[in-house]
Amino acid sequence: MEERVRSTMDNLRKNGFEVKFFDNIKEAKNDIIRQIQVDDTVGIGGSMTVFDMNIYEELKEKGINVFWHWKVPDEEKMQARNNADKAKIYITSTNAITEDGKLINMDGVGNRVSSMFYGHEKIYIIAGINKICKDYEGARNRIRNIAAPKNAERLKLDTPCTITGKCVDCSSPSRICNVEVILHKKPSNANVFIFLVNEELGY
Ligand code: SF4
Repeated sequence: MEERVRSTMDNLRKNGFEVKFFDNIKEAKNDIIRQIQVDDTVGIGGSMTVFDMNIYEELKEKGINVFWHWKVPDEEKMQARNNADKAKIYITSTNAITEDGKLINMDGVGNRVSSMFYGHEKIYIIAGINKICKDYEGARNRIRNIAAPKNAERLKLDTPCTITGKCVDCSSPSRICNVEVILHKKPSNANVFIFLVNEELGY
């Protein structure tokens, strides 16, 4: 393991987070699935990392109640978000992890980021090592010029970054950078498990 990854994990632990390291996403997925009971409810927040790992489908196959607004038609998205908000377990990723052990996130609606700090018994945050940034400035740069433009492009939004790939701090009605949440340390009533994966995952 790279020294930079090791020290980031140490700092996440100093900030109160539970941290595990996996060589690949399959190992991380299997570890989470093993910890989920058949009568648990699971909410998922918008994340390409979680989308690509197919955990939604595997939990469904096991008969577990899983709620994810990405997997339902438009008219059911609000209900799916509300159900995910009330789930015992929440699974998502993070936009960035700073080397001093903080999680930096930007959201459009805010459901994903609010679930990272309140309302669930356990929160699993899965992230590739590509999400590690030197500091807050590096994290903001990553969000503004990598994560948000790619998400805007994926969603075919009418925002400047969809075309240029760069953030201009727009005022577009379709803007997806509305709510910034920083987890400086583990929130008091949240059990946050960070699963760091030795791969490039998500945006
Ligand atoms: S603020 Fe606007 S331009 Fe900047 S990344 Fe977000 S949506 Fe794109």
